[in-house]
Amino acid sequence: MSDWSKADWVDPALGWVPKPVDRLPKRVLIDFATRCNLRCPMCPVWGSDDQEAIDKVKGLLSVENARRILDEVAAATPLVQPVLYGEPLLIPDVAERIRDMKSRGMTVAINTNGVALSAQMARDIIAAGVDSIFVSLDAVDPATFVKVRGVDKLEAIEANILRLLAERGRRSSPRVGVSFTITDANRAETDAFVERWCGVIDCLRTGLVFQDGTFPDMAVDKERETCPALYSTMPVHHDGSVTICCLDGFRETTVGNILEEGAEAVWNGEAFAKVRYYHETGQWEKVPFCTNCNGWLWHDFDEEIRDGLLIRRSPQMTYYNRIDRLENWQGPLLGNHSPDLGALRDPTA
Ligand code: SF4
Ligand code: SF4
Repeated sequence: MSDWSKADWVDPALGWVPKPVDRLPKRVLIDFATRCNLRCPMCPVWGSDDQEAIDKVKGLLSVENARRILDEVAAATPLVQPVLYGEPLLIPDVAERIRDMKSRGMTVAINTNGVALSAQMARDIIAAGVDSIFVSLDAVDPATFVKVRGVDKLEAIEANILRLLAERGRRSSPRVGVSFTITDANRAETDAFVERWCGVIDCLRTGLVFQDGTFPDMAVDKERETCPALYSTMPVHHDGSVTICCLDGFRETTVGNILEEGAEAVWNGEAFAKVRYYHETGQWEKVPFCTNCNGWLWHDFDEEIRDGLLIRRSPQMTYYNRIDRLENWQGPLLGNHSPDLGALRDPTA
């Protein structure tokens, strides 16, 4: 870890004692392909009206560069999500890329819109060893799906999810889930969504939407803290540029380039250290992308066990985990939680 406490941008009057930062991040998001087969209105990138800005960020990571990046971060055996603002099933030879990650000992989690989740695709990515697949659905009513996703494909995607479950069969892995981002267009269907999918899949997630630099529906009931994402997660865009946050699709907060400088140099570099310094000393206005954001609160989870479910709630999202399917909730997918699986299955034991 580099010591930036004496840098010339540090105000000694603030008595800054830097929080420890790991040599490499525990979670790495890599946009192998910044391309998508949908144009969801709420998407921070593809929902934008600024086509020029979209054209600037879209593109593909080459196989050679993808392997270089994986080699750079492999020592930390991070959780890797091969997606930021792209649809992961559109990554060329996606099963091969998953094998690249698995052969380096990494846990691989995919968030997909499910459009391209054909039977063959399901078989290929399961065989490649993907650990977790979450499908964003955001609706139970096909008409609502059209509003939030822009296409009439709800029933086809639901069929894809059920076929994925069938392809997985009785195996414990991959973990299969569905997610629902709550917006004005679908808010009334939130309970129906939970009812529809609880018990069918391993896990479902509901979450609040990010809009205009914040989560407008998220209540903040405590004093602002340093954002935990700055210490756990490295978002890498397809050109190797690293931003401070996964919410930054247009790369306003680039702090370096992993292909030019290396992962450790960027993660512990001066630009990233400055952002952490401003957070740790409460100078939020010095990080414009973070100034009005309440996302620092989304990692605070409470837990409840009810009706065979482990329900984990933060101000921003709720996970409903089937307790009888918790065996595939492993390693870095635990999200700072170390459950006693035996006790969860039988809380009276
Ligand atoms: S599927 Fe995801 S990446 Fe694609 S437009 Fe919708 S929100 Fe954006
Ligand atoms: S405060 Fe918000 S924008 Fe800043 S790093 Fe955290 S989640 Fe991202």
